[in-house]
Amino acid sequence: MITRANCPICNQTTKLDKCNEFRPFCSERCSLVDLGKWVDEKYSIIEPAFSDGDQDYPETH
Ligand SMILES: [Zn+2]
Repeated sequence: MITRANCPICNQTTKLDKCNEFRPFCSERCSLVDLGKWVDEKYSIIEPAFSDGDQDYPETH
């Protein structure tokens, strides 16, 4: 039985058998990209995007 799917990251056809340790991704790179996505979302919840301090600390000349 050959199980195939498209890699969720690069959409390349990838095998889902146990010799592919990065399944459902095609490669380590794509699995890391997906991991990075989750880590990114996690961080954006914990730590809101930085804003410029200009509005909080107006400079007077
Ligand atoms: Zn891929």
